[in-house]
Parts: sequence; structure tokens; C-alpha cells
Amino acid sequence: MEKKTNGSRRPSKIDQNSGRMNDFCNRYKSFLSECKTERECIKFFAAELEQKGFRPLSKLIESKTKLKPGDKVYAINMNKALVAFVVGTQPFEKGMNILCAHIDSPRLDLKSKPLYEDGECGDSSEFCLFDTHYYGGIKKYQWTALPLALHGLVCKKDATKIDLKIGEDENDPVFGVTDLLPHLSKESDKIIGEKLNLIVGGVGENASPKTAVLKVLKSIGVEEKDLISSEIEVVPAGKARDFGFDRSMIMGYGHDDRSLAFACVQALMTNPPSKRAQVVVLADKEEIGSTGATGMKSKFFENMVAEVMALCGEYNELAFKRALNKSQVISCDVTAGYDPNWPEPSNKKTEALLFRGVAFCKYGGSRGKNDSNDANPEYIAALRKLMDENDITYQFTEMGKVDAGGGGTVAFILAEYGMQVIDAGIPVLSMHAPWEVISKFDLFESYRFYKVFLEMM
Ligand code: MN
Ligand code: MN
Repeated sequence: MEKKTNGSRRPSKIDQNSGRMNDFCNRYKSFLSECKTERECIKFFAAELEQKGFRPLSKLIESKTKLKPGDKVYAINMNKALVAFVVGTQPFEKGMNILCAHIDSPRLDLKSKPLYEDGECGDSSEFCLFDTHYYGGIKKYQWTALPLALHGLVCKKDATKIDLKIGEDENDPVFGVTDLLPHLSKESDKIIGEKLNLIVGGVGENASPKTAVLKVLKSIGVEEKDLISSEIEVVPAGKARDFGFDRSMIMGYGHDDRSLAFACVQALMTNPPSKRAQVVVLADKEEIGSTGATGMKSKFFENMVAEVMALCGEYNELAFKRALNKSQVISCDVTAGYDPNWPEPSNKKTEALLFRGVAFCKYGGSRGKNDSNDANPEYIAALRKLMDENDITYQFTEMGKVDAGGGGTVAFILAEYGMQVIDAGIPVLSMHAPWEVISKFDLFESYRFYKVFLEMM
């Protein structure tokens, strides 16, 4: 019999670490409240990394600066993805320790030509609206009748960029998708994608709703045509908050997967260099299949590994292939937590539980593990040893009952290099809803685990 069971009870551990845990979670809450797009996350993390002595790879390449063990570098991909390295004391070809998380979250995106008027008001229309196209897996009704904010940027033909964040300051207006009152609704009323239209203005004093909205946009330098070259995300307005009388949880937008992106970066920044290179990858587009130039399926990550190896004087094709092949990876992503309100799709024996620490998924997929990365027992055994030696609380879980569903992560993409890969993150309630819930304890345990993983042999 093992001493530690799958998911040890929490109280003693919480008491031990509560000071550090609360400090960590307070910093996390302000990050999550501030950063609601990929670009905002990258800007935040790049500033933090710079402060801790990480240097931008592009500048080092330009100046042909040689790198040595212990050096810290980072590279940004199109302002929406990032990779950071702490160079190890042994050659790259012995393998890296890689943490990979994603920083995109489900939301509503504006269409290319979003602005239009609708509704009857004499000769004119009553409302000005933004047409949206949702991003990622959402339950559409959850995005109605709540305050929404606009985050993003507008790119003008003269190459200027206008950053936009409206709806977060308490003096800002907010926006919203309206819903029908119960008295007029039928059981069958469904919110379909085309109904997710954001009301952004009403009848003005002397102007049509659209003219009034355009006037405000113009005051910040944006013309209607500029919206064609914009990237504006509609997200829940408001801050991340403590959840529950005991403040043991956090409610916020985008815990999937910014909670673990935050934990990864904090782990990397506070670690001393070790034998293997320590690497953190923050990817975009996970929620829509990891596609595109900033998604995990792009070559950005491996290109940056090649660049860093070159600056270390270690690059050749074989050494590069070995470096990838000998690496070990934690795919840091959240999973569904057991929900007392929704026990139906869960198997209590295997579902991830809140307050039970880091949640490992050996495999995902559905219909007989289809499309999943099934982690190797040799790797799992080494991780168990590492966690037990460092007193980290963890659980081995599956998402939902067999054949009840399933979801993918970036695990399979990195597995293609022949790396050891496993998913390990934290359980979430109301996953993919505008406001998701996690436990502080789980988040802090994931940070403690990622730290020791990065230093692992
Ligand atoms: Mn995720
Ligand atoms: Mn997700």
C-alpha cells in the first residue's frame, strides 16, 4: 500500500503554505483582471520576464550575442504567443524540460464589418450593434444578459495601432447581448450564433445610432473602415474575485488556460538554472484547434529552439533533433472539475476534484481514447517520485464518463517530436463560461509542481 492516496486531503497543506498561496493568488487575480486577450497576456508576461533578466532573442540574434549556461531569453510570436528559455548547464541535445500552456480563451470576436443599425424608431433605427462570430466552444446563452467589455486593437493603413479597452473602468460604458424575458420565451427558444449581436448604442439626440457610435470611435482615431483591420474581442467586463465565504476559490474570466500560463511563467522566473534547459511555451489558438501562425501547430517553437541552440554554438540538425526527442513536457491545461450541480456526465471515481491538487490526465479523447496522447507509465512513475519527494498534492483523472465526451489539448502536437508528454493542470467549474471557478490550493500546487518539474533531471 502506498502512503499517499490519489488526492490527499487538503487542510494541513493549505495551512502550511497559506501566506505564500494567498500572495500568489492575489497577484494572479490582478493579472487575470487585467489581461483578457492574448496580446494583453503577452505584454504582461514579457514585461515580467524582462524584469527578471530575460532578454529578447531577436536582439541577441541581431547582435550575434553568444549564450552560455544560465542565460535567460524569450521570443514573441506576432504579439500572441511566447517562448522563454533558461539555458541549461548541459548541452541541449540531452533534452529540455518544457511547460506548455495556452493564453487564448473562449469569447465573441467582432466580424470584419461589424457595425450596423436595427430596430424601429420613426424613420430611423433604434440601435447600433456589432455583429460577432464566437471563438471556441461556448454555450451561447451564457453570453447574453451580462456586462461585456471590448478589448483589442485597430490597425490603420498608415501602420499606426490603436489599443482599445472599454468596459473595465467603473466609469466606462459596458455592452451586451440581450435576451428575451421568460414570459415571451418558449422552451424551444435557442440562442444561435447569429443572435449573438452586441448592442453598442441607441438613438442619439440629433444623430442616428450609428452616427453617434462612429463619432465616439472617431474621437479615439478609429474610422468605420479601420474596423476591417481590427482584432477586437468581446469579453466579460469586471474583475476576478474571491469565490465563497472562505475565499478558497477564485471566479474569473479565462482560467482556461491563463491560470496555468501564469503558474508556468512564475515557476520559470523563480527557478535557478539547472542541468536541462528550462522552457515555457505560451500558445495561442488552442481553443480552435491550435491552428494558424500563433497556434501550437506552427513551427515557431522549434524555430526558436534552433535559434537558441545556434547562439549557444550547439546547432546542427542532429543535435537539434535529439534536443526535441529527448525532451519531456507537461501540457499544462485545465480540466473539468466534478460539479455537485452536474454530477450526471461525471464518474466520481475518476473525475478531477477541486482542492485535490494537480490534475493529471494520462489520456483524453473519446470513442476509445481516439486522438489522445496516452502518456507512458515510465514517465508517470518518474513524475510520481518527483511529486512525492516534494510533497505535492496530485490526482489522476479523466474528463467525464467513458464515451461521455472529451476534449483535446496541445499534448499530441509536442508528442509528435517523440517527447514524453502528459497533461497536468487544475480542475475548473463552469469551464468555458464567461465566469469560471478554480480553487486557490490547486493553482498554487500546480505552480509548486511546475517549479520542480523544470529542474527535473
Ligand atoms: Mn484549455
Ligand atoms: Mn478550453
